[in-house]
Amino acid sequence: MDAVKPNIIRSNRRTISIQINSQGQVVVRAPSRASDRDISKVLTEKNDWIQKTLQKMSSKSPQIKLITNQYIYIQGGKFSITFDPEKTTATFKTDSFVLPSKGYRDDHLHSYIKQKFFPHLKAKVVKFAQQMEVDSKISKIRLSKATTNWGSCNSKGTISLNWKLACLPKGLQDYIIIHELSHLDHMNHSPAFWSRVERFFPDYKLAKKKLKQFSLK
Ligand SMILES: [Zn+2]
Repeated sequence: MDAVKPNIIRSNRRTISIQINSQGQVVVRAPSRASDRDISKVLTEKNDWIQKTLQKMSSKSPQIKLITNQYIYIQGGKFSITFDPEKTTATFKTDSFVLPSKGYRDDHLHSYIKQKFFPHLKAKVVKFAQQMEVDSKISKIRLSKATTNWGSCNSKGTISLNWKLACLPKGLQDYIIIHELSHLDHMNHSPAFWSRVERFFPDYKLAKKKLKQFSLK
């Protein structure tokens, strides 16, 4: 049995109850006159349930942050970040990024990505648009700094791609691009829209699920 240190709250109640709160802490509510032995007896009885519940909670992994002060993901690969006030722009050195300051971290990375990755992303959009025969419907491809959307598409044919798309594995970038391009024909998430996505990205359901692992914040 793993040692579980419960938080015991005694009050004017009749029975002993055990709960696990959202922080994964075991909370025992007991009558004021309950002895430690009474409580540990209930804890032993409920041990299987406690262990199972705690295990389930820990396997729900939190979202992956794509950029912190320590690292950045680029095309799904993880690179470390260091700061050097002598620098004026973001530079990439063998396997790490050197940035001028923590304060403008995102601004520096954004301009680096805009310069180095955006042309590739744009080329990919054009390539898929040609395959999907919607290239004539695109009026503009832009990089967005949205904190809620990976991409968007409006009725004027503007495709906006989040700058953090550069951080995602390439397969997920493709899914997002195909998703947005499919909106050029269907401005909604109807079954017709999804079947269009599926035609050009058969594994879209898995991609949707994988995308949830990454935080845009
Ligand atoms: Zn959509």
